[in-house]
Amino acid sequence: MDATADLHIHSTASDGTLSPTRIVEIAEELGLSVISLTDHDSVDGVEEALRAARGRRVTVIPGVELSCVREGRDIHMLGYFINWRNERFRAHLGELQRMRLERIRAMIGLLSERGLELALEDVLNETGHRTTSVGRPHIARAMVRKGLLHSVEDAFARYLGRGAPCFVEKYVHDPIEVIGVIREAGGVAVLAHPGLGISDGLIEELAAAGLSGIEVYHSDHAPEVVRRLLRLARKLGLVVTGGSDCHGVGSEKGLRIGSVVVDARALFAYAYDR
Ligand code: AMP
Ligand code: FE
Ligand code: FE
Ligand code: ZN
Repeated sequence: MDATADLHIHSTASDGTLSPTRIVEIAEELGLSVISLTDHDSVDGVEEALRAARGRRVTVIPGVELSCVREGRDIHMLGYFINWRNERFRAHLGELQRMRLERIRAMIGLLSERGLELALEDVLNETGHRTTSVGRPHIARAMVRKGLLHSVEDAFARYLGRGAPCFVEKYVHDPIEVIGVIREAGGVAVLAHPGLGISDGLIEELAAAGLSGIEVYHSDHAPEVVRRLLRLARKLGLVVTGGSDCHGVGSEKGLRIGSVVVDARALFAYAYDR
C-alpha cells in the first residue's frame, strides 16, 4: 500500500486560500495517496474534502489544528481521525471561534488607534465562504488589500505578531486540556511543528498526558531539528507524522502542498490498533 501523505494542510475553512475540493484535486494531481485537512480551530472543510475524495485515488483523514497556549507561547495541537460531530468537541470549537471574533474586533480597535482603519467586514471578506475561524492572516490580507501596508509579513512584524502593538492574546486553553478534547472525540493528538520552540521537557510532559505523536517533518524544520525530534519520538514511543502546513497559493509562504511528505502507515497503524 502506498501511503505518501501530506498531513498538514489549511483550506478556506480557516486561513488557507484553496477550497477543500481544490486541495483534494491538487493532491491527486501530485500523486499523493493521503492528505489531512488541518484547519485552525475548524472542521468546516472536512465534509467537503471527504466528498471530493470519493472516486479519487486520495484518502482524506479528518483533521484539525487546535490552538493552545502555555506560558505565553502559542502551541498548535493536531487532531487526526477526529469525530467532528462529537458534542464536546463542537462546543470547544464554537468557544474558540467566538473568542477569535472578539479578538479580531479588539485588534481592529488597536489598529484604528494607530490610524489604520479597517472594518470588520473587510476582515471577514478575506475568509472563505463560510469559515468562522477568523485570524490574524485575514487581518493582514485585508490591510494589504486596502493598501495600508505592502505585505502580510510586514503586517505581522509591525502590528500583529506576538509582542507587536496590536497583538491580542487568543485564549488560554492548556495543551493538556486540548489533548483531552481530541481524545474524547476519538482523535489522535499530535503536536504540530514542535521544532519551532517547543522544549523536549514539554514534549515529555505532553506524552505522559496522552499525546500520541509529534510532527517531525514540517516545512520550517531544519534537518538537525528533524534528527532531534526523531530521536525523541523513538525514546518516548510517539508516532512520527509530517506535512507541509500549506496555506494555499498567494499565501505568505507559497503553495507548499506535497512539499513535505511522510509515510502515513505509522499513523494508520496506531489509529486502528487503539
Ligand atoms: P492566529 O491563529 O489568528 O493567531 O494566526 C496565526 C496564523 O498566522 C498562523 O497559523 C500562520 O498561518 C500565520 N502567521 C503567524 N505568524 C506569521 C508571520 N510572521 N507572517 C505570516 N503569517 C504568520
Ligand atoms: Fe495558519
Ligand atoms: Fe500551526
Ligand atoms: Zn498549520
